[in-house]
Amino acid sequence: MSGLWISKELAEGIRRHGAETYPHECCGALLGRDSSIAQGHDAEGKAAKREVLRLYPLVNRRDDSPRNRFEVTPRDVMDAEKAAGAQGLEIVGWYHSHPDHPARPSEYDRDHAWPWYSYVIVSVMNGTPQEMTSWRLGDDRQEFSAEPMEVRQGAAV
Ligand SMILES: [Zn+2]
Repeated sequence: MSGLWISKELAEGIRRHGAETYPHECCGALLGRDSSIAQGHDAEGKAAKREVLRLYPLVNRRDDSPRNRFEVTPRDVMDAEKAAGAQGLEIVGWYHSHPDHPARPSEYDRDHAWPWYSYVIVSVMNGTPQEMTSWRLGDDRQEFSAEPMEVRQGAAV
């Protein structure tokens, strides 16, 4: 797996969103580029990369259990796609927080995830953001695999 690149600034943005909505989950779309779609390898023959260039925060619409269930509605997907397209980007994944839980996907997450996308999860313990991880669902939708995440210095371009 190629891994997910994100700037330090955007990684901070996800943590901040998780702290803001605590004790409820935050969620949002990851807008960016995935070079594997176009060519599989870049000009130097390095493995394809996936990069997050913008965050698109969403409102957690679930009233019944906003603490441990986030839901992305078709409307959210449409809005996020529009925002991505307007900036010449695409949706490369989704992020959400796990208040007082580890940064690992739940059963619920697996049932509601789609293959291909990166799923970034930030653990927020007692209101303080902790570990952040990224996951990809297998094509058979049976299980998530951890996706290496590279947090880079400097602002996104
Ligand atoms: Zn979750």
